[in-house]
Amino acid sequence: MTQITPQPGIMDIALYQSGESHVEGVRDILKLSANENPFGPSPKAKEAIAAAIAEVHRYPNTDHAPLRAAIGEVHGLDPERIICGVGSDEILQFLCQAYAGPGDEVLYTEHGFAMYRILGLAAGATPVEAPERERVTDVDALLAACTERTKLVFIANPNNPTGTMIGGNELSRLADGLPEGAILVLDGAYAEFVDGYDGGVSLVDSRDNVFMTRTFSKLYGLGGLRVGWGYGPKQIIEVLSRIRQPFNLSEIQMSGAIAAVRDRDWANRCTRENARMRVWLSEQLAALGIPCDTSLANFVLARFADQSEAEAVDLHLKSQGVIVRRVAGYGLPQCLRITVGDEAGCQRVIDGIRTYQEGRK
Ligand code: PMP
Repeated sequence: MTQITPQPGIMDIALYQSGESHVEGVRDILKLSANENPFGPSPKAKEAIAAAIAEVHRYPNTDHAPLRAAIGEVHGLDPERIICGVGSDEILQFLCQAYAGPGDEVLYTEHGFAMYRILGLAAGATPVEAPERERVTDVDALLAACTERTKLVFIANPNNPTGTMIGGNELSRLADGLPEGAILVLDGAYAEFVDGYDGGVSLVDSRDNVFMTRTFSKLYGLGGLRVGWGYGPKQIIEVLSRIRQPFNLSEIQMSGAIAAVRDRDWANRCTRENARMRVWLSEQLAALGIPCDTSLANFVLARFADQSEAEAVDLHLKSQGVIVRRVAGYGLPQCLRITVGDEAGCQRVIDGIRTYQEGRK
């Protein structure tokens, strides 16, 4: 048979492993493996999604103007500098496609989000990982890893799966130290969970080499709808808009996202509840002898004695119907990433780990 060879780099991509959502033979499942909002989306978003079905025979609006206007209004941003995509993953893909190709490097951190490597390789570029310092982004290590071939530097702030973040001075130092022509991409998938953090807007506004991505999948509880957006210098938006498919988002997606971003009460309640339960969960885990780094996102990274203990806890929780995320693929084999659930959900995690520990005595 003829050998049909894909582009270089494609066969180096390992298939993305998403969080599981069911366990054979267990009925009452609590999924805490994908950083989803335990309260789901705003009821207003659900209504808007249902209503948009009536017009599904029509092609959607191609310029996303109503969605960009709603995002711009809520965040105080110029809608002309916003681009929308099929999840923030698609915005990250546009960036790789537009700015990184064979011979170029895309840089990210040791425990950075898996899509940076995948999308860099898919664009034909070379992925480069910089070490972190105790699971925190290390600006010096990133700057040391830059070369004249570095085109994109991805930082999730807060980072997934560590939950840690770096402050504004460190981000500025990174942006200012990058080689000529490289873009700093601030991935703000979890930015809304951090009180007082603008996701990098002020840095974008004061530099021409910084771009920010955001999502409706986490705080807004719309992971299944697939809507994300990016904000950056006009010059970059104009480049990305050339490669965006004209109908990448449906009216169903856009209507849901508009209603979600406008429902500030729902978003604020979810943020407050997440902050409260994240503290509770971390404290309860610590009381069981399981440390977590200080997370500012909607999950915690629980550290066990070693990989075999993390796996045993994972299996025990699964047998109870509680699904959390193994992160060995992120170089953290002794850890489990646990999404912050509602009160009952968090209690179930702690009860599950307690019964595991009692069973070992
Ligand atoms: N960035 C980070 C850091 C993430 O954790 C995720 C989701 N796991 C994404 C981007 C992509 O999210 P989405 O495509 O759903 O917007």
